[in-house]
Amino acid sequence: MKNLRSEIIKYSKMLNSKKLSALRSGNISLRYKNGFLITPSGKKYLSLKNKDIVFVSLNGRYDKKSGSPSSEWKFHQDIYNSIKQAKAIVHAHSTNATAVSCHKKGIPPFHYMVAMAGGHDIKCASYATYGTRELSKNILKALKDRKACLIANHGQIAFEENLSKAFELAEEVENISLQYITSLKLGKPKILSFKEMNRVLSKAKNYKKG
Ligand code: 13P
Ligand code: ZN
Repeated sequence: MKNLRSEIIKYSKMLNSKKLSALRSGNISLRYKNGFLITPSGKKYLSLKNKDIVFVSLNGRYDKKSGSPSSEWKFHQDIYNSIKQAKAIVHAHSTNATAVSCHKKGIPPFHYMVAMAGGHDIKCASYATYGTRELSKNILKALKDRKACLIANHGQIAFEENLSKAFELAEEVENISLQYITSLKLGKPKILSFKEMNRVLSKAKNYKKG
């Protein structure tokens, strides 16, 4: 468990150093036993110590003496309870994904790499106040058949089978968002067809393996 706490802290600091989330915004969790380990609420990542990482059970219980978990623990709980493949979650306020999300827009298949999120597009979850069950419901809807989504007027979220992959997916979403914004500056980008995206999705399954 000590190693898992250190791993969460390592990637939390990378949210800052890789410019995915400034100071204390965003949060990270790892599935563990009958619950998950999650970053604390409102602490700067650079100051994090192992004891600051909080264990929350899948039914939402945590020891008050171990500090406050991220204010977003409910969406982490709901993702782990609803999606069994989810083993690690990265939530970030990365600049370009957030900029797109502020238009309450998802990302269409303007580029084949959109498939990295698991489908034909990257959806944008409807806005709800941070930390609420309502936000959590909206996020689950946008994550249907996907591993990442934007969150309206807020940021992005990515999950994977481990933390390294979840972090990498959040980086991909940020990069795709930047490319989408850049492409929009030249007018409306040409969208790939349904058939082509299906082809890409079946190729992508093998790409990461090889
Ligand atoms: P926490 O510090 O409580 O995790 O909040 C950060 C955040 O991104 C809220 O959406
Ligand atoms: Zn947030």
